[in-house]
Order: sequence, then structure tokens, then C-alpha cells
Amino acid sequence: MRFGRIATPEGMCFCTIEGEGEDHSQLTAKEIKDTPFTEPEYTGREWRLSDVRLLAPVLPSKVVAIGRNYADHVAEVFKKSAESLPPTLFLKPPTSVVGPGAAIKIPDFATKVEFEGELAVVIGKPCKHVKADDWKSVVRGLTIINDVSSRDLQFADGQWARAKGIDTFGPIGPWIETDLDKFDLDDQKIMARLTHEGETELLQDSNSNQMIMKMGEIIEFITASMTLLPGDVIATGSPAGTQAMVDGDYIEIEVPGLGKLGNPVENA
Ligand code: MG
Repeated sequence: MRFGRIATPEGMCFCTIEGEGEDHSQLTAKEIKDTPFTEPEYTGREWRLSDVRLLAPVLPSKVVAIGRNYADHVAEVFKKSAESLPPTLFLKPPTSVVGPGAAIKIPDFATKVEFEGELAVVIGKPCKHVKADDWKSVVRGLTIINDVSSRDLQFADGQWARAKGIDTFGPIGPWIETDLDKFDLDDQKIMARLTHEGETELLQDSNSNQMIMKMGEIIEFITASMTLLPGDVIATGSPAGTQAMVDGDYIEIEVPGLGKLGNPVENA
């Protein structure tokens, strides 16, 4: 099942998204009474998805992100081996989150602003001390995040809060897919295409089989330290191929079977 959040002429709501494929004119958004974390009860209102605007599918209390979870990305950004620089945790504030189609806005002090296409999970219930083998029991579904990062601020500051926490630097979407069995997380393609001056280039073309920490390990590691709440999002790390974006660009992250997350880029 797919859950989303939409802006309609009457306001905002959570919904299920019914139909196959990704063509919004062929999909229906059906308003639900509560949140995506319970079995859906419908209000009876529905819209063609192309007639409403998709928002970020959740309002997380925090986005917990794994850095340095792909060896090729560690090499391209840090110029070191993954063995010498293991995965790390950081947080992106909820105010960095935007939905599909919303502009990534680059302030003038943020330079070398790069996309990072990442597979993400949405937490379904409050949890702590989750064992790796039990990870599916606390996850509501999968989504996509673009962990937008000012590479210059990341290295200048040391702490990553500013580089990765700027408003609009956390696009999430297009929706939550709850059917985890549709995916083999040890063999899931992740791609990113950047359109610059009318030319579209495939810059990330990787696979979750390259993840150093796997999903179960990640959730055990995070919940050893902090409680996760329904709607919290975990970003599982970026493969190599990240590149700077500038005003006028369009960045699209794709996880086949899950969907595409596309956002324009503007100067703030
Ligand atoms: Mg990242």
C-alpha cells in the first residue's frame, strides 16, 4: 500500500494512493481519517493525483541519517578508505524537509551544494533497543530522500548541522510504500539524474548491496541511542556520484519499484 500527504483545494490530508505505476493522472488519492500509522479508514473524499499536490509523506520529529555508508562515496568525498572512516550518524532537522516538486533553495553562504540520492525508511511505531533481525516490525515503509549537502560548509564547520540542515535540504517522497516484501534491500537499485541547462545526466547508478551497514544494523545502532517515533525517517546513506547543483537545475532520485523524487533547484 502507498501512503502520501497531499495539498488539495480544501486543505492538507494524509491519503492512500491507489492504482498502479507512477503516472499521476492514473492514480487516485483517497483521504484517510487518521495517519499512515494505523489501518486506513476513509473519509470518502478522493482526487485524481494529478489534480492535487504531493507533499512530504510524513512530518518527522527527526531525520536520522547515516553518513559514509557506501565505500565509493567515502572515497569521492573524504578521499579515504571506508575502513579508516566508518559510518557515522547525524540528524537533519524537520524544517529541512520538503516534498516532491518543492524547490531546493540555496542560500548564498552555502556553496558546492550537492544532491545525495538515498533509500529511506519511515518508522511506524515508538521504538528503542530494536534488534537487527526485528527491524521490519518497527518500519512502516520505504521512501526516498535527497540528503542535500553543502560540501564546503560540511568541511568548514566540522559538524554537519548547517551543511545538511538548511531549510529545503531534505526532500522526501514521493510516498511511503508499505509492502516491504516487494523489495530486496540487499539488491535494490538507486539512481540520480541531474538536469543542467537542458541536459539530463545519470550521475548515481548504484545498488543497496553496496551499503556497509545494512538496514537491520542501522536500526539497531540508532535505537541503541535514541527513541524513534512514528514518522521519523532514516536516510541510509548515499552512493558515489554526487555533484554540485546550481540555480535552474532539476534533480531526480529514483528507486525502481518505489518511485521518483524530483525537485527544482533555486537560489534562495
Ligand atoms: Mg547522505
